[in-house]
Amino acid sequence: MSTAEASRSRLRFDTVLIANRGEIAERVKRACLALGVRPVAIASEADAAEAPALEEGGPLCVGPATAAKSYLNQAAVLLAARVSGAGAVHPGYGFLSENADFAEALEKAGLIFIGPPASAIRTMGDKIAAKRAMLDAGVPCVPGPGEPLPDDVAIISRMADEIGYPLIIKASGGGGGKGMRVVRESDEIADAVSMTREEARRAFGKPELYMEKFLEKPRHVEFQVLCDEHGNAVWVGHRDCSLQRRHQKVVEEAPAPGIDPELAAATGARCAEACRQIGYRGVGTFEFLYENGAFFFIEMNTRLQVEHPVTEATAGVDLVVHQLQVAQGQAIDPIAFDRPASGHAFECRINAEDPDTFAASPGRITLVRFPTGEGVRVDTHIHDGYRVPAYYDSLIAKLIVHAPTRAQAIELMRKALAETRIEGIATNLPLHMKIFNDHDFIRGAVDIHYLEKRLKEGFSADA
Ligand code: ADP
Repeated sequence: MSTAEASRSRLRFDTVLIANRGEIAERVKRACLALGVRPVAIASEADAAEAPALEEGGPLCVGPATAAKSYLNQAAVLLAARVSGAGAVHPGYGFLSENADFAEALEKAGLIFIGPPASAIRTMGDKIAAKRAMLDAGVPCVPGPGEPLPDDVAIISRMADEIGYPLIIKASGGGGGKGMRVVRESDEIADAVSMTREEARRAFGKPELYMEKFLEKPRHVEFQVLCDEHGNAVWVGHRDCSLQRRHQKVVEEAPAPGIDPELAAATGARCAEACRQIGYRGVGTFEFLYENGAFFFIEMNTRLQVEHPVTEATAGVDLVVHQLQVAQGQAIDPIAFDRPASGHAFECRINAEDPDTFAASPGRITLVRFPTGEGVRVDTHIHDGYRVPAYYDSLIAKLIVHAPTRAQAIELMRKALAETRIEGIATNLPLHMKIFNDHDFIRGAVDIHYLEKRLKEGFSADA
């Protein structure tokens, strides 16, 4: 047996089914190939029609265009894994990536889910349980009890007075920025609770609500973690994702500017400790609101994030390769992650959408040209002649730059944006150009409402 064969025979899997589409499917495929693991792609009928001819007969079709019938169809994805001989499934982000039932179904079928144990997904998917777990681990949370609201309005009013107004009522089962309501005055609380409860019941099938202080001008700062099954857990830097529209991130950067290194180290260490306590495995992200020099936990994402490349650039690691290695049972070396971020990185999410109205703009791309050169990375699945389907998220590419300083990274992103050409459909490239020429953004550390405010003002240069 050769050394390569011997090391392969120790692997838990030699084939990975990539249960996703678009840029992230390409990204995961690259990591598989880097490790000598065979990637197998899936596609809906809509995506299969656009798939470039692949070596081994192309992706396995898992159903019609509608995501519910293809990428979210657990039985079809499981069957694809069986047919392809995969030993593990990488869910990417979105779709089935935070579905505890799917993780469990794979396990029952003898397959490895490349992600945390189902129990961790379940705890973190329930916001009250997540907040309680974080309070237990000493992670700083938004002021307010990590407990469900009672039915009695008088008790709720007293709790609200204790927290202080303004406050936010949130559905424990909520997600995607839905199932939340801000309350500014005590006479609004009773109606707000009953309306949010009804919404929660209907949208998430769970009426539980909780309440916490509403922060007026926070930034969104998140910590990347990586854990193995041997008790090692590390944090791998932080990112600022404050530039959002309708709770959707538009531009991300690493590291988050202007954060006290000691506070960051203490918060990151708490996140790693929380991971050990809940038996976490794989990559994950702790999302915080950051206001007046303090961090407040809001939620944990138990999967790879869209914005992971900015951390890869500044930490000098390949998070997806680590994800695969951890799933193979390998141990991570905590010392290798114990170093400061190097330089500064930005990511622009390029969407197929009108830059002014934000209406989706599916259709045929006639020409694509991406920039190249030192410090520039493009994660994408599009090519000349590619038709953007109307059925899925509008993200078509991520443009990532990395330079020694934040100012140099901004300069590099401007050049990279100017060199990018996507013709045939509308994209938000012009919006990114405005952002990278915006005075306050260039100065750094804008809050989560900043982009929407500038959009309302029409991005007039003098504002
Ligand atoms: P979801 O799971 O729906 O994304 P989150 O808890 O992450 O819910 O909150 C989504 C967004 O709502 C946050 O990014 C932030 O903009 C806002 N938000 C949530 N909690 C608060 C709070 N306590 N104060 C101010 N804004 C908040």
